[in-house]
Amino acid sequence: MQVFGLLGNPVGHSLSPPMHEAAYEALDIDARYVTFEPDRDAAAAAVEAAATLGIAGLNVTIPFKRDVLDAVEPDGVARRVGAVNTIDLSEGTPRGYNTDVAGVERSLAYHDVSIDGRDAVVVGAGGAGRAAAFALADAGASVHIANRTVERAASLAADVPGATAGGLETLSRVEDAQILVNATSVGMDPDDGETPVPEGNLHAGLAVLDAVYAPIETRLLREAAAVGATTIDGAWMLLFQGVEAFERWTGRAAPVDAMNEALRAELA
Ligand code: NAP
Repeated sequence: MQVFGLLGNPVGHSLSPPMHEAAYEALDIDARYVTFEPDRDAAAAAVEAAATLGIAGLNVTIPFKRDVLDAVEPDGVARRVGAVNTIDLSEGTPRGYNTDVAGVERSLAYHDVSIDGRDAVVVGAGGAGRAAAFALADAGASVHIANRTVERAASLAADVPGATAGGLETLSRVEDAQILVNATSVGMDPDDGETPVPEGNLHAGLAVLDAVYAPIETRLLREAAAVGATTIDGAWMLLFQGVEAFERWTGRAAPVDAMNEALRAELA
């Protein structure tokens, strides 16, 4: 039996175990997915211990995504983003990936949203914002990053090819964009009456991906749907980062529908 797992602190709320175990069941793979909660200063030791114990792969979440960079050989994307959320331990050297980037790109592709040549606005410049900005720029979009703390947006934009940055007042750029990603925590429970983007900036020509997945239907997505925009909830991003991790670990096409069903059953 293979063992996969999640490193985080805390990890009690994680939706990854049911999502991955649904994939093992669908493809008849003899594997389990378990959660690990090491001390906050023990990221590298945890990766080493997992390798020693023969664990096949790890996902990594808050607060360890940056800390594990030094404990793995990151691929180009993970190195540029500066964070690892998936580790393959099947060979000698632990290999680090950032599947949040693919999670953004594949969520949009699944909903037939083209990225190449489009204008995109990312609101937020934390971990999710970094992943979204790289995903969009690498797929050919012109990216503008709007963040409450302008310096953080500017620092991210300096790393992302062609990106521009500004404060939340620059959200008016959404009016001329075709893609909007909310990568802030605004709209999350218990503040689910809030929205990160003024309703008046939304329009029918926009595809809106909200990284927030609790609640599934945020005020931003409700207001976007009301003006005729394409809406993509945060569970899609969560799903596709897991799909990408599964495919990296197993080399097999993931059973997307089974994983999606399991994830949405947890979020219902
Ligand atoms: P993070 O690194 O802590 O970044 C938080 C971001 O939200 C920062 O840009 C912060 O701005 C902004 N923000 C917080 N409160 C705000 C407010 N009241 N007004 C305006 N901006 C505000 O967090 P993260 O890891 O990027 O996560 C952000 C969201 O994405 C969370 O809801 C998380 O659950 C979600 N997420 C989803 C997925 C998925 O797979 N669906 C993956 C990762 C994260 P400042 O820089 O000014 O503080």
